[in-house]
Amino acid sequence: MNTIYLVVPCYNEEEVLPETAKRLHRKMKQLQKAEKISPDSRVIFVDDGSKDRTWRLIEKLHEKMPQMFDGVRLSRNEGHQNALFAGLMEAKDRCDAAISLDADLQDDIEAIDRMIVKFEEGSDIVYGVRSQRDTDTFFKRTTARGFYKVMKHMGVEMVEDHADFRLMSRRALEGLAEFREVNLFLRGMVPMIGYRSAQVFYERGERFAGESKYPLRKMLAFAAQGITSLSVKPIRLITSLGIGIFLASFFILIYSLIRHLTGHTVAGWTSTVFSIWAIGGLQLLAIGIIGEYIGKIYLETKARPKYLIEERLHADPAQEQAPKE
Ligand code: UDP
Ligand code: MG
Repeated sequence: MNTIYLVVPCYNEEEVLPETAKRLHRKMKQLQKAEKISPDSRVIFVDDGSKDRTWRLIEKLHEKMPQMFDGVRLSRNEGHQNALFAGLMEAKDRCDAAISLDADLQDDIEAIDRMIVKFEEGSDIVYGVRSQRDTDTFFKRTTARGFYKVMKHMGVEMVEDHADFRLMSRRALEGLAEFREVNLFLRGMVPMIGYRSAQVFYERGERFAGESKYPLRKMLAFAAQGITSLSVKPIRLITSLGIGIFLASFFILIYSLIRHLTGHTVAGWTSTVFSIWAIGGLQLLAIGIIGEYIGKIYLETKARPKYLIEERLHADPAQEQAPKE
């Protein structure tokens, strides 16, 4: 039987926490009774520097049911991605797999059963994917679609309509721990881990209490984070733009010469107009080239793992020498 940890980041969630704990407790007990997960399985609540009674509630839960609820408290509000990462790293050495989900239970916890089945079938990462977006506003739906499109253009591999509801095996977590980067965008990083993955579909509900901790401002920052922390393509865009404008300057040269020769211009116009385009293009090109090197430095400083080994065929010498029974 596998030990499964549920990792739940919480930021000012006093309104939802009691109900969430109740539902997760019920779910875990049900899975344990059906012998689908081991009795060592737990829920880890990560308090992301909440300013309300969230941590007090987590402490109480742990006091009452130490076999069910663990808690971690971050020193300050670090944001959802960091809180989630912290929780996953806490779980890494204690579990066979960890499932991350939001405190408001917008992610359907009934999908957990199916995630565990996929895990038992040999998937290291199981993505929870929303089957529809009915509960979203039109605005959120279109911006989300646009976001996935932009990310794809930027060369970032992402699972569409997957947020941070996912199961990761222990070795996938160990892989994630190898990513030394500080700017986290987990849904872009997890596909880089590789290994076998699967998807389960679920319907995302509405927050049952409290309000979203992701206002538009945070959402935009999150999207920008996703692009700039995973891709150096915006820099390449500058280079292409520079080349484009520099090439265009030749057309401008021809055009201005024609205007000059046909006597439509005032003195000095021809050379000025050509210079503006040529120099502008060259400057952008130069910035792009410098940017290319900065991009390289940027990726180097992230110190991502160059590879993760999926399987190893190697006889352990100690075992070979062990006397046969
Ligand atoms: N969250 C967090 N730190 C933050 C903001 C949010 O840990 O700074 C948690 C929050 O408690 C919740 C999850 O991230 O468990 C998702 O937040 P929310 O439900 O507000 O986002 P939405 O579903 O509206 O996108
Ligand atoms: Mg939510």
